[in-house]
Amino acid sequence: MLEIKEYDLIVVGTGSAINIVYRMIVDNSDTKIAVIDKNDPGGISLTRGCIPSKMLLQHANLVRMIEKVGEYNIDIEVKDVDFEKIMKGTRETIRERSESIGRVLINSENVDYYPCTAEFVDPHIITVSRQRALRGSEREDAPEDMNITSKTIILGLGSRPRIPHIKGIRFAHYYTSDNILEMEELPDTIAIVGGGYVAAEFGYFFSAMGSRVTLFSRNPRFLPSEEPEISALAEKELGKRMTILTNHEVREIKEDSAKTLMVIERGTGKRKEFTADEVLIATGRAPNTTFIHPVRGGIQTDDGGWVVVDEHLETSQPNIWALGDATGGHMFKHVADYESHIVYHNAILGERIKADYQAIPRAIFIQPEIASVGLGEGGALERYGEDEVLIGFYNYRDTAMGEAMHIENGFVKVILHRSTRKILGAHIIGPQASVLLQEIVTLMYTPDRSADPIIHGMHIHPALSEVVEKAFLSLMTPRQYRALGHNHDSRD
Ligand SMILES: Cc1cc2nc3c(=O)[nH]c(=O)nc-3n(C[C@H](O)[C@H](O)[C@H](O)COP(=O)(O)OP(=O)(O)OC[C@H]3O[C@@H](n4cnc5c(N)ncnc54)[C@H](O)[C@@H]3O)c2cc1C
Repeated sequence: MLEIKEYDLIVVGTGSAINIVYRMIVDNSDTKIAVIDKNDPGGISLTRGCIPSKMLLQHANLVRMIEKVGEYNIDIEVKDVDFEKIMKGTRETIRERSESIGRVLINSENVDYYPCTAEFVDPHIITVSRQRALRGSEREDAPEDMNITSKTIILGLGSRPRIPHIKGIRFAHYYTSDNILEMEELPDTIAIVGGGYVAAEFGYFFSAMGSRVTLFSRNPRFLPSEEPEISALAEKELGKRMTILTNHEVREIKEDSAKTLMVIERGTGKRKEFTADEVLIATGRAPNTTFIHPVRGGIQTDDGGWVVVDEHLETSQPNIWALGDATGGHMFKHVADYESHIVYHNAILGERIKADYQAIPRAIFIQPEIASVGLGEGGALERYGEDEVLIGFYNYRDTAMGEAMHIENGFVKVILHRSTRKILGAHIIGPQASVLLQEIVTLMYTPDRSADPIIHGMHIHPALSEVVEKAFLSLMTPRQYRALGHNHDSRD
């Protein structure tokens, strides 16, 4: 029988769950907390997700900006990119930030940090196992096997890349977002399997660095979660620098000196063969729950393996809470952070706050940038009917700043409920889309979600934000919108 050590709180995962640990370190310095993570401290967002990917994308943005300055009669050119240094610099920054989180955990007197895998043996009892630990197991400070227990446990388990069933994939070397940072040499050619935001961002990055990129997406539409006009414009713009093959399914990967991909064009059934030096798989996320053995913890998971929680983010096991990607909901860092606050209030302060998902924004940091929130046109029509929906639309190029910035194609599309003037959704493609969207998101968190503060207020002239104001001042019925032929089809 292993020794059992008791804690006031056990936190599994150092992604957004770390927010709770930080608050406990400051506000409850006499509580005893166990923090467990089998990977480097900081979670996916810091070590393999949002932060490194956005650091890489800044290099791509600069390359693309320099390529554009010729339009302003300025003569500079990109002579070379030092890919190895870009990757090394990014890895080093991430490592330093992760190590500094580790130092906080190690140096906090009320925290025991276990750099290994957590496994339930019973509800509220977790084994921290040196043998079963993954990367953390190699470390000197990994503990010997022991059991730990607490009345309150928080699971911020995250997710991992979903690997599709492709013949031969097990025998081929491929990258995912988990290990792409380790790449040292820029491939001449790279095949990207997937058509969502991770595939789009890495496709944009590699093409700007100088690789020839071919992206294969099973879906008939590139970036299928976005409005059709946005998908089409993104495909058209990114398609100028890389090959985007939608409706194409990769069936087999063979590895020789290069990788050969056998691809089927869905619909026609036509077989095609492509070769690439490297392959990146970016086909969505899978649950990370297997390691922790949720059944032994009495924690229900759904058919997909995601942790089931109620509206207070409590699992089926009382006083065990889950947040972030682990629940398979909206897999964004800002959602995981938001949920960490809800869990702090409910699990630690004993409140009963419900998570509120009425307006979840998201962004894709390619050029043109994309940001969206709420319902799309189709969803709004389905829910409220043709007569209760209004659409506002405005092109960046029709604003003073848009013209100064030579923005040819970006736009803002907003969707309102006609009789209440409630904002139902907003979709932006163009420079600073994520920043421009934020004022709309903020209004969507007011009690009446009204667009009036934008419609009746002032926007600085000639700031880019005028494109948002003007979209709200250009409202029309869905029929009028369609009649105006807002057709951003990539095949134009
Ligand atoms: C390439 C990429 C780009 C992204 N870009 C964005 C973006 O721009 N904006 C955005 O909002 N979101 C982005 N995301 C999504 C975002 O990173 C995640 O939604 C967010 O990090 C989830 O946080 P989390 O706290 O739920 O989990 P994580 O940050 O994944 O943390 C979970 C931690 O739990 C640990 N763990 C799991 N099981 C165990 C166990 N049994 N024992 C011990 N430790 C365990 C893991 O090691 C991990 O460190 C991106 C993701 C990827 C992959």
